[in-house]
Amino acid sequence: MRAPAYLDHNATSPLRPAVLDAMVEALCAGGNPSAVHGVGRKARSLVDAARRRVAELAFCLPGDVVFTSGGTEANNLALRGAGRRRVLASAVEHDSVGKASPEAEIIRVDGEGVVDLEALERLLLQPGEPALVCVMLANNETGVVQPVGEVVRLARRAGALVHCDAVQAAGKLGVDVHGLGVDYLSLSAHKLGGPTGVGALVVCNGAPFVSDRRGGGQEANRRAGTENVAGIVGFGAAATAARSGLPVAPLRDRLEAALRSIAPGARVFGGGARRLGNTSCISMPGVKAETQVMALDLAGVCVSAGAACSSGKVQRSAVLDAMGIEPAEAATAIRVSLGWNSESGDIDRLIAAWRDLYIRAGKSDIDDARAA
Ligand code: PLP
Repeated sequence: MRAPAYLDHNATSPLRPAVLDAMVEALCAGGNPSAVHGVGRKARSLVDAARRRVAELAFCLPGDVVFTSGGTEANNLALRGAGRRRVLASAVEHDSVGKASPEAEIIRVDGEGVVDLEALERLLLQPGEPALVCVMLANNETGVVQPVGEVVRLARRAGALVHCDAVQAAGKLGVDVHGLGVDYLSLSAHKLGGPTGVGALVVCNGAPFVSDRRGGGQEANRRAGTENVAGIVGFGAAATAARSGLPVAPLRDRLEAALRSIAPGARVFGGGARRLGNTSCISMPGVKAETQVMALDLAGVCVSAGAACSSGKVQRSAVLDAMGIEPAEAATAIRVSLGWNSESGDIDRLIAAWRDLYIRAGKSDIDDARAA
């Protein structure tokens, strides 16, 4: 059977072959990095090498890298570890920031999904304790890139710390922790072609950090628990591979142009802003995202609904909501995300299946919507 055209890399990017090889080797080697014998020392050296590789991806010091179980844990760790009671978070943060700080004051975004810097400045000027500001580098649904350098500049003037979720940006944009000037930065291996269940929080500039985990002294007392050696090794291999970037923007642009010529009313959300070159959040007028995802799946094309879908159920997109998109239109958005193994033929298959559905839906859903 023909392999599916996998265009859901922002959810999870398939494991790169070099990553798998490195992980198998690490799994076979075994050992606990805290053990002092030869097998333990070998495991420790694998973890240290992976730490250097991840540090190279983020342009930070190896000692700044705290390995975690993924982006979710890294975000939670930053929110708690920074020790700030006042949190300002953008309206388009991933749930692992948004739900982890329900008391956060929200920084609004504009219609393209870009953080409103004046609104941030107003919040920072309010009297009160110095805050932790959370602004992601690139959005998982739309790919919209945030002006994090500007955010840092404003935050510094108010004595605030800055956390940046770079889970989607890493490997797609240059992620330079020191260039950005942030204090904390989150990464996740499975968005880079590494394994699921491993990520990192970069804690830099001597930023305050208090661990809330009790246990062993792993990760320089910042994250207790025996390291996931094979996962960390896979993360290191993926980080090295991802340093060469992701030159897929021409494919994404061709896709958007083709879909808009099929359906002139198709809208690219965040299309007016700087975006990751691999992501397209695009509507099919009058056709629900679930219908599109299912029809495309039957045609052997994997994409996801524009809305968050962490429990297998499509919910309303908080990101599109924050951008002021009408719920009915937001409900027709799918997310297409390309990655390291995407090819022109994948885009051709998506265009053909999308066109078929649009024509079929023209006889049903669209007419029904008009009649309603
Ligand atoms: N942050 C962003 C922007 C994401 O897109 C995701 C996952 O989709 C996460 C954090 C969570 O990462 P993980 O799946 O490694 O927990």
